[in-house]
Amino acid sequence: MSTASIEISGHLISPDHYIDGRRVSSAETFELFCPIDQRLLGHIAQGGENHVDAAIRAAERAFPAWAALSAAERKPYLDRFAEEIGKRADALCTVESNDAGVLLSRMRHGVVPRAMLNIAWFAEHALALQERPIDTEQAHHIVRHDPAGVAVIITPWNSPLMLSTWKLGPALAAGNTCILKPPEWAPLTCSVLADAAHAAGLPPGVFNVVQGTGPNTGAKLVSDPRIARISFTGSVPTAKWIAQAAGANLVPCSLELGGKSPFIVLDDADIDQAAATAALMYRNAGQVCLAGTRLLVHENVADDFVARMRHYVERLVIGDPRNETTEVGPIIHPRQVERVKGFVDRAIAAGGRVLWGGAMHPFGPQYYQPTLIANVAQTDEIVQSEVFGPVLTLQTFTSDDEAIALANGTDFGLGGVCYGETTHATALAERVRTGFIWVNSFGIRDLAAPFGGIKRSGIGREGGDWSFEFFCDVKDVVVPKQPFRASFAHR
Ligand code: NAD
Repeated sequence: MSTASIEISGHLISPDHYIDGRRVSSAETFELFCPIDQRLLGHIAQGGENHVDAAIRAAERAFPAWAALSAAERKPYLDRFAEEIGKRADALCTVESNDAGVLLSRMRHGVVPRAMLNIAWFAEHALALQERPIDTEQAHHIVRHDPAGVAVIITPWNSPLMLSTWKLGPALAAGNTCILKPPEWAPLTCSVLADAAHAAGLPPGVFNVVQGTGPNTGAKLVSDPRIARISFTGSVPTAKWIAQAAGANLVPCSLELGGKSPFIVLDDADIDQAAATAALMYRNAGQVCLAGTRLLVHENVADDFVARMRHYVERLVIGDPRNETTEVGPIIHPRQVERVKGFVDRAIAAGGRVLWGGAMHPFGPQYYQPTLIANVAQTDEIVQSEVFGPVLTLQTFTSDDEAIALANGTDFGLGGVCYGETTHATALAERVRTGFIWVNSFGIRDLAAPFGGIKRSGIGREGGDWSFEFFCDVKDVVVPKQPFRASFAHR
């Protein structure tokens, strides 16, 4: 039995699970709403104990044969998977701009091509992975990267297609079988991914999707002792819960979490470029983990910077993300709108001065104005907590040391941005305690490079070889070069 498909602009999307190569429905469902106009999009299958169990069994059954293939033998499956994603570009763009409110233009030109590359790049990169010999005087070491088993992948709503494929690519290419738990506020592109995998001929059980809410379905998946890896992107509170569940079974987990990243502008920066890039932080209504949300600007250039940034912010096109020209869309959910409003209201009550924004936007009930708050102290909630909305803070500094103290003065450590004369900005960037930082730029993400955060922003790195290190069991097969004679050393 299957639940009725969800129709979005002519595209029919299954709301069901995808387990063992076929669609499986649930008696229990939950509602899915569009963040743009609050219309009910449909009812999504809620994964229960039986679905979680069926998916794990299917993934376990499929594992030995999939793991036994060489990377070269798995590659054609994954290349076809990437192609099938490409064939569904229209559906993926339309669907994610409707259920997550992601900009259609960004989906078309950025996310979908990247989703294809996430699969194809890791399939190619895995060819070089299988064995890394180490030769010493005593022995030849065959260092193998063996697939770990069943990998559970859990992703958030702000970029479901991009983040799911970024984890699925290396997990599958390394020979694991996977269970994807999509975000309940934006689950539909993950369902389209299941169609793409099916059409690509991935063997049943190699890739499964179990829909459901976090505390329900997600919690069951990550607590199961049969799984070998958990790759999670999401919030800090959920990560703490998952880490405990994983710890109980000693299952390795990779945690990519929130951020409160500094955006530093030195007094030798190209102020106009810095201001234009800072305005980009409002893209996706600020629902971007790696955004530089704390503007730290040298006092000498602060007035000029704010004036130029205001110029760019006033020109942002706010509206329906399905229009190609829109630059800022809605906030995902009414609960998230309340959260954003609460942060701003408390910041104002604590003495914060709103330089622009600070209120709802007239486009609709899930739209908030791009906001900048000055007159904030380092210890203020608005400086220390991730808002995950279109809200930035402004602080000034007079020396490099002060900039570093402000930049490093939160519990987070995901990313950062540093604008200034290149040598100066690079030297300063090296002192910022985060997993990555962009010098005179923003958002460059090469698949070969490591990605992840420190402190409360996460544990572990994914990307390039780091993804394979996580999704594989590394094994050293030691072959001595001389005949080995068993003897006690003291004799
Ligand atoms: P969330 O933690 O609420 O949910 C993320 C996922 O976890 C969802 O699929 C949810 O269903 C699931 N989940 C919730 N409770 C669970 C449980 N007990 N067991 C298993 N799974 C559970 O996060 P969100 O609100 O969806 O996403 C926003 C957060 O994600 C922000 O903090 C943002 O910074 C972070 N994020 C980080 C990155 C990164 O790469 N570092 C990227 C994007 C988003």
